[in-house]
Amino acid sequence: MTERYHAHREGYNAAGPFDKSQPAAPEPGYPPGEECAQCGGRCCKEHGCVLAPEDLLRALAGKEPDEESLLALFQDEKKGWYAIEYLSTPQGACFYVRMRHKCYTFIGVDAMGECVALGTGGCLLSMEERPRGGRMLKSSPDRRCVQHYTAEQMCADWQPYQELLGRIYRDWHARMTDDGTFDRCDEAYFAWLREKRTEPQ
Ligand code: SF4
Ligand code: SF4
Repeated sequence: MTERYHAHREGYNAAGPFDKSQPAAPEPGYPPGEECAQCGGRCCKEHGCVLAPEDLLRALAGKEPDEESLLALFQDEKKGWYAIEYLSTPQGACFYVRMRHKCYTFIGVDAMGECVALGTGGCLLSMEERPRGGRMLKSSPDRRCVQHYTAEQMCADWQPYQELLGRIYRDWHARMTDDGTFDRCDEAYFAWLREKRTEPQ
């Protein structure tokens, strides 16, 4: 395997979720190391990168982040690569946005899963397009990769959006529980896992 996972595929220019006219990410972060190729993207298979609010604002392409614009983005078939999840803290729930997991929805009930942006040759996003949690993950040859976008920083960044994200999460969590969406996602996920296990390595 020659391509890196945490790295993006050189020359990849498909219509990802980001509006190319929006400003690039403010800091370059940590380029993936060669160890990412051998690793095969363990980080991307466990949890989607966490966004900072600036990443979400870029994805919204200048629209005000309100319930209408967020739902339009989350439910967009091509750009809806995101999910709301929350972290339990001593101060209560901290809602944030991360990359969505394959087979699941924009309400992150799936604690672990493979990121929708992980392709067969690695991350489909360029370094600039990648969410802050991906840019700030420093790979390490001993696989003790260090996340420099800390949970404390993330919660502080998302603080102004708690009411909005929490409202959408609670509302749609109830709807998706009632209409069986989460059950269907689980079924799709397990079918996908079975299919993956039978694929030639
Ligand atoms: S950052 Fe770490 S966990 Fe992620 S692909 Fe690279 S070596 Fe693997
Ligand atoms: S956005 Fe890219 S780097 Fe981040 S979890 Fe997804 S595949 Fe991995």
